[in-house]
Amino acid sequence: KKPPSRKGSMNDMPRNLLEEIEKLEKLFTVDTQKLKDIVAHFIGELGKGLATDNGTIPMYPTWVMDWPDGTEEGVYLALDLGGTNLRVVEVKLDGKRAFDVMQSKYMLPAELKVGSSDALWDYIAECLGKFIHDNHFGKYDMDNRVALGFTFSYPLSQDSIDQGVLRTWTKGFDIDGVEGHDVRPMIMAALERKQVPIDVCAIINDTTGTMIASNYTDPETRMGLIFGTGCNAAYMETVKNIPKLKGLLPDDIDGDTLMAINCEWGGFDNENIILPKTKWDRIIDEESPRPGEQSFEKMVAGLYLGEVLRLVLLDLYTEGFIFQNENIEPLREAYKLDSSFLSMIEEDPWENLSEVEDLFLEKLGIKTYDNERKLIRRLAELIGTRAARLSHCGIAAIAKKAGLTSCHAGADGSVVNKYPDFKERGAQAFREIFDWDMPVEEFPIKVVVAEDGSGVGAALIAALTHKRTAKGLS
Ligand code: BGC
Ligand code: MG
Repeated sequence: KKPPSRKGSMNDMPRNLLEEIEKLEKLFTVDTQKLKDIVAHFIGELGKGLATDNGTIPMYPTWVMDWPDGTEEGVYLALDLGGTNLRVVEVKLDGKRAFDVMQSKYMLPAELKVGSSDALWDYIAECLGKFIHDNHFGKYDMDNRVALGFTFSYPLSQDSIDQGVLRTWTKGFDIDGVEGHDVRPMIMAALERKQVPIDVCAIINDTTGTMIASNYTDPETRMGLIFGTGCNAAYMETVKNIPKLKGLLPDDIDGDTLMAINCEWGGFDNENIILPKTKWDRIIDEESPRPGEQSFEKMVAGLYLGEVLRLVLLDLYTEGFIFQNENIEPLREAYKLDSSFLSMIEEDPWENLSEVEDLFLEKLGIKTYDNERKLIRRLAELIGTRAARLSHCGIAAIAKKAGLTSCHAGADGSVVNKYPDFKERGAQAFREIFDWDMPVEEFPIKVVVAEDGSGVGAALIAALTHKRTAKGLS
């Protein structure tokens, strides 16, 4: 039996559709030279971010200043507020580079993402209260609280590990009264209102958490990456390479001291200099709650992949190429298609595309013809491939900037975990960017799927914070 094919032929397509596909291929393909140009520009922006407050990539110091040494142990609580879920995690570190987690997932109601600040924090406090109640944290009370690491995965500028001012919402969140403020007092006030005996002792980004958690189990890890609803990276820099920290650190601190940097690379090229944007990328930006921000993220992150597909299909309909006798009203709903819709399209073997047929019928009530299904499939490939190639420009840029010639990058998120061929396409981009000719298995820089970085990382960072305090460094 032949394995299902990952590549299909367009040869028997009618001329006019074929021409449309060729136009789309031009618009969505990022060639080798363009990859290299993007990496070069990216490196410059990383440098600007380390030196000043006005690059497009902010490069926030996170005050996570050590790698774990593997002996960290104990029980910690973590809270992970991501783009889609709210998770509370109890992490047991065994002191031998392994861990156990026990977690509860709470859905994050869509209206909370665009509601009021108090409603968000109260909901979080209630979920935490429920977790504490259900899981026998009875020995704690408001005078003796359990320590928690809070993974808050939005751009934060931090002056210390237990504080962080939200710079801007991303991933479609739009809640008044949080931007420009330290989030810790807000969550602490809600915990007080709901009488939940928790102390938030560290606020971290999911990328930093992923990096630290991956390094705990795999010491070759030097970067943390998220390819999920949003997209971002963290890596460890030495303080002598972070000019903007001057004056913020004690004078006698060693220049080789480490500092984890949350890059917030989603903002890369907000100035629109280098990224090969299409008309549909511009529409997504203009209709988002924060136009002009997260330029790079809007081309590569899971939240937006399905939206690009939807907008292209709508145009092809309007121009008379597809879905001609169908009711396309359901397709007019913004963010109707998520990245899992795209991955399912790409998982369908080219031979019959029956899954694509079902998906369009079930999700949108649209009947598709054979040629339309081929076009949809090819379009999904173009969108997914572009995302993988562009996001690997960011990894390559960090590696070059930090002089990492060989390392692992721990990665988490729905796109890297579930999107077909994402890693393979990324590896192909590495091959072109670095001019590598060895087999993929021998690539010196490897993206390794991480185990629950946000939760375990927050726990480890809480543990490291304790250690550092004990050594008297903070
Ligand atoms: C946020 C980052 C986060 C990334 C992945 C972005 O939208 O700004 O802080 O790391 O999503 O979750
Ligand atoms: Mg997450």
